Amino acid sequence: MTGKTITQAPHTGASDDRPSWLDLALCAQTGAAFFFPEPGSSVREAKQICQACEGRAACLEYALANDERFGVWGGLSEKERDRLRRGPARRPADRA
Ligand code: SF4
Repeated sequence: MTGKTITQAPHTGASDDRPSWLDLALCAQTGAAFFFPEPGSSVREAKQICQACEGRAACLEYALANDERFGVWGGLSEKERDRLRRGPARRPADRA
């Protein structure tokens, strides 16, 4: 993991530099397990919780800015955040 790290689902860590959007984090009420599942496990429940979270946009922005590579942040899985970082896929016809 690189960048500034908030351990535990974005989520439940307590520190002096804790971002204010964590006060809105629904995951702080549910625990980290949903958000950092074992490899191959579903992240559906975590993403459903994120959909209702008022801190979602700030959480996603934080994860992208800090290159958070693991877990669900802002309603997106690791792969979804990676795709967002890389931008839209280019078709062969677009490369000419
Ligand atoms: S968007 Fe999801 S991961 Fe981010 S703070 Fe809210 S519940 Fe937690």
